[in-house]
Amino acid sequence: MKKIALALATVAGLAATGAQAQDYPTRPITMIVPFAAGGPTDVVARIVTDHMSRTLGQQIVIENVAGAGGTTGITRGAQSQPDGYTIMMGHMGTHGAAPALYPNLRYDPTKDFAPIGLAAGTPIVIVAKKDFPANDLKGFLEYMQTNGEKVNMAHAGVGSVSHSTGIFFNSVIKAKPTMVAYRGTGPALNDLMANTVDYMTDQIVNVAPQIQGGNIKAFAIATPERSPVLPDVPTTKEAGLEGYEVSAWNAVFAPKDTPPEIVKKLNDALVKSLDDENTRKRLQELGGVIPSAAERTPEALQKLVESEVARWTPVLKAAGATAE
Ligand code: ASP
Repeated sequence: MKKIALALATVAGLAATGAQAQDYPTRPITMIVPFAAGGPTDVVARIVTDHMSRTLGQQIVIENVAGAGGTTGITRGAQSQPDGYTIMMGHMGTHGAAPALYPNLRYDPTKDFAPIGLAAGTPIVIVAKKDFPANDLKGFLEYMQTNGEKVNMAHAGVGSVSHSTGIFFNSVIKAKPTMVAYRGTGPALNDLMANTVDYMTDQIVNVAPQIQGGNIKAFAIATPERSPVLPDVPTTKEAGLEGYEVSAWNAVFAPKDTPPEIVKKLNDALVKSLDDENTRKRLQELGGVIPSAAERTPEALQKLVESEVARWTPVLKAAGATAE
């Protein structure tokens, strides 16, 4: 008897989920941004959701839940109801680097999510405060050899993009700066502009406007080609540094077990947003790279996450990185 009651309850539950999925969304959606407002993850989230909310007919409210390199917000998102009303803007750190750095991470980037789609590619730029006593990468590397221990490097917490690409950079150039953690690279950039921290490696969408405005220095971009928005910034290779090519990305995730109809609606809205002229212009003006049609699918994002975890784990282990 109990079993039948339970089975009926389950069927009723499923039916309710199906109906909910069909009507979705009937109320505002929350997108967790796992870093401080004003930084790159926040900026990409606001640009992309602007058009997504118009397609979905509901507001997407950004909630900044910063801490532990983005893993606090993503843990909360992974554990939320899989009903499409809580989604997340993850990135190469939270869904690629974090597992190598947090032995007790409370989510598995490859198993605990319903991937929605890639939102933007974000090349990494090596930037320094305006008063840094070097004007190019060669001068920076020379300076680091003799003064390296006096230098501070900003990052957005262990396992973040700036932390993992920074650790990797420091291992390539054999530097051991003092690492200074922030709740996102928005606040880190403010300190860089105030000349109170020395350098960082961060996503182009955060730093491009301040490089263009002459408020910070850019030594190199870590991609094979220069960026159209920073035509004067050499690639790491052009600047004479081999072995440091790295690009990051931001992507939308829902918790695992989110109904497929809802995943599809969210993906459709993301795809439409990335086809919208205004969204494209806003991302591209900041140096963001618009994902191709093939890169925007949930399946492609799942593969990207798997390959990024596989790629970053040995890189960070070899660099001797641990959760400090
Ligand atoms: N770009 C940052 C990172 O280093 C985070 C942020 O978006 O503020 O992971």
